[in-house]
Amino acid sequence: MSAILVKEYGGVEKLEEGPLPFSVDAPIAAGYALVEIKVAGLNFIDVYYRTGLYKKPQLPYVTCDEGSGVILKLGESSSSTSSLLRVGDRVAFFRGSSGAAATHALVKLEDLYPIPSEMSFQDAAAVLLQGATAHYLTRSSYAVKRGDVVLVQAAAGGTGLLISQICHTLGAIVIGTCSSEDKAKIARSVGKADHVVNYTSNENWAAEVKSIAAPYGGVAVVYDGVGKSTFLQGLTTLKPRGHMITFGNASGPVDPISPLLLTQHGSLTLQRPTLKDYSAAGGEIEERVRELFGWIASGDIVLTSSNAVFPLSDVRSAFAALEGRQTTGKVVLTTTP
Ligand code: NDP
Repeated sequence: MSAILVKEYGGVEKLEEGPLPFSVDAPIAAGYALVEIKVAGLNFIDVYYRTGLYKKPQLPYVTCDEGSGVILKLGESSSSTSSLLRVGDRVAFFRGSSGAAATHALVKLEDLYPIPSEMSFQDAAAVLLQGATAHYLTRSSYAVKRGDVVLVQAAAGGTGLLISQICHTLGAIVIGTCSSEDKAKIARSVGKADHVVNYTSNENWAAEVKSIAAPYGGVAVVYDGVGKSTFLQGLTTLKPRGHMITFGNASGPVDPISPLLLTQHGSLTLQRPTLKDYSAAGGEIEERVRELFGWIASGDIVLTSSNAVFPLSDVRSAFAALEGRQTTGKVVLTTTP
């Protein structure tokens, strides 16, 4: 019974195996379940927390907020929805837990999602956070329409592949960016990107994107999870009244800009959204997950958790690979060898 703890902010060396921060033999509090973790999902936000770019309420904490597993014990349930859960159920979660990179986690009942019978623990630990994010970005931050040209930065990454597939399903023309030919192949084959541009080998990548988009009427929306290194050039690709949605900092946080820049590039809108604001009480996330699982069941979305699987004990390598741009699709950590 162990967990991967971060005791102080810093590099991958700050990830250390240690004891669980609770006893699995203690009674479970009302509204919680004890979950035996099968797979933890690693997301870029776990890097921001470990480095201290984003702060956790307290140190030490157990890394990774997303995971899947089996309910071992239930606390007293307080709502009719959560009372549908039973000991032995296969469940996944992306928030509301004591930390997923562990053998066990305490998870709020309201944050547990039953895993469809045909879905593996690995896919279940891969889909919720990035899938709900890709859903709100393409359905709510900007509602993608048939015929729109969308630019997806880091299109071979976990979130990028999901955004691309959803945009393709919604009838958009997808232009993806990435850093290598191997990643470009995945962006095309899995992400169904219509065009892929390498933004590391071509320093004029934005001009290339613009010329690809021109015959279709220009880029309507940019989805940018890369941040500092792509933001300014990304603005130049947009058509007048286009939408810049900057939703992450993989290369570092975006530098401050003057609103006048949005005028210079054609009355653009700028948004910096986060998932928690697109997860309103009353079932918003459940509705997103329902549509997402529908696309997975119909084959419109293919999950990619098998591209980067690491044992929990090798958590430092998993983080290093994600931060070192060596991964495609979702990165997961398994508790069983
Ligand atoms: P990814 O799997 O997309 O990995 C990040 C990718 O970013 C890399 O593979 C790499 O692709 C690209 N990248 C470009 N520059 C760098 C750099 N200097 N260092 C590292 N990577 C770089 O990660 P996720 O899918 O987990 O997350 C993608 C983004 O989405 C992150 O910024 C994350 O914070 C954000 N996010 C935001 C949410 C929100 O609600 N706001 C929710 C979920 C995720 P390449 O090699 O092709 O350049």
